[in-house]
Amino acid sequence: MSAYDTDNIFAKILRGEIPAIRLYEDEDTLCFMDIMPRADGHCLVIPKSPCRNVLDATPEQLAAVIKTVQIMSHAVMSAFDADGVTLQQFNEAAGGQEVFHLHFHVLPRHAGLSMRPPGTMAEMDVLQAHAEKIRAALG
Ligand code: 5GP
Repeated sequence: MSAYDTDNIFAKILRGEIPAIRLYEDEDTLCFMDIMPRADGHCLVIPKSPCRNVLDATPEQLAAVIKTVQIMSHAVMSAFDADGVTLQQFNEAAGGQEVFHLHFHVLPRHAGLSMRPPGTMAEMDVLQAHAEKIRAALG
């Protein structure tokens, strides 16, 4: 497995070098909107410390991230009056990973509604409006 690349997109977001629509953070984790959402409210939870994925993460990084994943799952359920939540997490290119900083996808889901195909950039004003709803649900 390759070494952690400090120039990956999420590392740049953590350093504030590229913008992100931030929803929540604590000492160890950050959550922000996915720029190509496969469902309204699709967001990503990452550790603030470096690791590529589940394969090199420490138990402490995993524990911190999953705690925030649960917080965000409740928030998106409430914000979008969802019927369920899908969590996705990919490891290495062969496992479907494209950005090599550990992340969990949190996707609010509605009964009978499929996820959108990947790869379509959202309108920024729509993403901002969705982010506002999630922030409000976080209280
Ligand atoms: P994965 O590595 O889990 O396959 O996918 C990476 C995810 O990051 C995708 O859902 C993609 O839409 C998202 N993504 C890629 N580049 C950016 C970016 O610059 N900003 C944000 N907020 N999300 C991104």
